[in-house]
Amino acid sequence: MAYLSTDKVEHHHHDVVIIGAGGAGMRCALQLAEAGYRVAVVSKVLPTRSHTVAAQGGMNAALGNLDSDHWHWHMYDTVKGSDYLGDQDAIEYMCRAAPQLVKELEHQGVPFSRNDDGKIYQRAFGGQSREFGEGGQAKRTCAAADRTGHAILHTMYQQNIKAGTHFYEEFFALNLIMEDGGCHGVMAWDIGKGEYHLFQAKAVILATGGAGRIFKTTTNAHICTGDGGALCLDAGLPIEDMEFFQFHPTGIAHVGPLISEAVRGEGGYLLNSEGERFMERYAPTAKDLASRDVVSRAIALEIRAGKGCGTNKDYALLKLDHLGEETILKKLPNIHELALRFAGVDCTKEPIPVQPTAHYTMGGIPTNRHTEVVINHEGSDGEEKVPGLFAIGEAACTSVHGANRLGGNSLLEIVVFGRACGLKVMKWLSEHRYHKTIDPDAWHAGVNRVERWLAKDNKGGEKVGDVRANMQDIMQSHFSVYRTEDVMQEGVTAIESLKEAIHQASIDDKHRIFNTELVEALELENLMSLARATAACAANRKESRGAHARDDYPERDDKQWMKHSLATVQGDTVEVSYKPVRSTPMTVESFPPKKRVY
Ligand SMILES: Cc1cc2nc3c(=O)[nH]c(=O)nc-3n(C[C@H](O)[C@H](O)[C@H](O)COP(=O)(O)OP(=O)(O)OC[C@H]3O[C@@H](n4cnc5c(N)ncnc54)[C@H](O)[C@@H]3O)c2cc1C
Repeated sequence: MAYLSTDKVEHHHHDVVIIGAGGAGMRCALQLAEAGYRVAVVSKVLPTRSHTVAAQGGMNAALGNLDSDHWHWHMYDTVKGSDYLGDQDAIEYMCRAAPQLVKELEHQGVPFSRNDDGKIYQRAFGGQSREFGEGGQAKRTCAAADRTGHAILHTMYQQNIKAGTHFYEEFFALNLIMEDGGCHGVMAWDIGKGEYHLFQAKAVILATGGAGRIFKTTTNAHICTGDGGALCLDAGLPIEDMEFFQFHPTGIAHVGPLISEAVRGEGGYLLNSEGERFMERYAPTAKDLASRDVVSRAIALEIRAGKGCGTNKDYALLKLDHLGEETILKKLPNIHELALRFAGVDCTKEPIPVQPTAHYTMGGIPTNRHTEVVINHEGSDGEEKVPGLFAIGEAACTSVHGANRLGGNSLLEIVVFGRACGLKVMKWLSEHRYHKTIDPDAWHAGVNRVERWLAKDNKGGEKVGDVRANMQDIMQSHFSVYRTEDVMQEGVTAIESLKEAIHQASIDDKHRIFNTELVEALELENLMSLARATAACAANRKESRGAHARDDYPERDDKQWMKHSLATVQGDTVEVSYKPVRSTPMTVESFPPKKRVY
């Protein structure tokens, strides 16, 4: 290939390279840049366009600003919410750190909403209780109106600019530089200039966000294509628990944008076509604030029973007009705007049509609670670290969410583990002070990945957009809220045969400058690996747990299945293996599995 020559690849040396400028990547960058390290943040979009900006409802911390609260109760709710698949050491770490980190964000400049007494405003969110489920609903979610992610992301960006972090904006990470089992850097494509860059670093941190775009209807931005997980799969590393994909109960029907759980936290509730408040039947105590998997399944069952709304009887209604115009415009201004724009509904007067919509990737790159990427060998319980490689945020599976994430725990996770990663990497850097001499041809694989698309002729084969739509259709119809053996097996076969279409597919635009069609092609490759891993893990797991609900195996089976899935994708085969849950917390006693009732 004519393009292949070393002088066309710009080399950079940093102490650390972080892929991803969302809340996780930027919180970590801040920790390291303030400590004086030379930090590169590579992001395929302008940092403030990362999906964190879309987070609405808030971030959990047991501050107890309205009622008494305790991090240990928060931990209990999170373990229960995870349907006992969450790793309890990591959950303890996160819930303990939460109050301190919210206060730290406030000092860094996040404009949290306030109570009358000046303390940070906290609202009720799903699955939150006091006194280990005995003390009623907790109010634990710290909010900046319904634009909390926006507030956090912009604050993090400003602080990073001040700290001297080096941003490489609109750079697309192509592959990891792996040598001797460790990670030493990353190859990237400058989307704006159409040039190659090799970032060499002593530590590489993946903070690339979720993979909601494997589904057709999702609350996730178009950029949420799971690139970090795909880079790991490509490097022969496993990905964990991909069958657990959260469907948020209240995406706007047929289009997907999220209507935050904050609406129900403020007193909104769901209705079926008969005007019945049906959540009272499914979750007598928590009602509309049961955990997300429970509410999504309830809506799906109402629709199945013919009690859905609209011509096709395929959605529920979310009523909030009784909260009054003043409260809605003050506490939920973004929701008001989204409902108007995407559903044509003025929610101060009428209910919003909602449907379960793909929302959050519980699975991801396996890490321990220190954010080090780990692999497990079949038959062994021990976790082996991948030297120099770390993962945080939605891209990682740490696993604090297990089989189902509680609302408000993800903004928390990105801050807690962003910081934890910064601390761990500093220790790593003190022990690894020099860049490794890497293979001078290390850049080839990344360059080939792009040049292949630019060189292909467009005759025959499908277009990238068509293959993607096809993949999203398959995932939506075969791996949705309720799953069964036949439908999933059909889905696995369909996805496995579709992967061939990528080899045949081509792009029309062959230019190097700002070629968005090329970027979509690269993203499709990533999405396809994750879709294959998701399909294989889902079809394998013969029980119902959290977001993985099966008609044919309706019960949770702790004896056989209280374990994490690990998938590797190599060429034609997806291999699935398992590793134990880390059920032993750091200092407190473990919460043993029991029936989940809300
Ligand atoms: C609509 C919506 C509302 C939400 N509301 C809440 C909420 O109220 N509370 C809560 O706790 N959670 C919420 N969540 C979840 C939460 O916002 C996310 O899980 C979290 O913000 C993810 O942060 P992150 O830093 O891991 O990733 P992101 O913010 O998604 O950032 C990913 C970064 O990776 C970069 N990147 C990805 N691939 C590449 C590549 N190949 N090359 C270079 N860069 C790359 C992107 O450019 C981006 O900068 C919400 C999610 C959505 C979708």
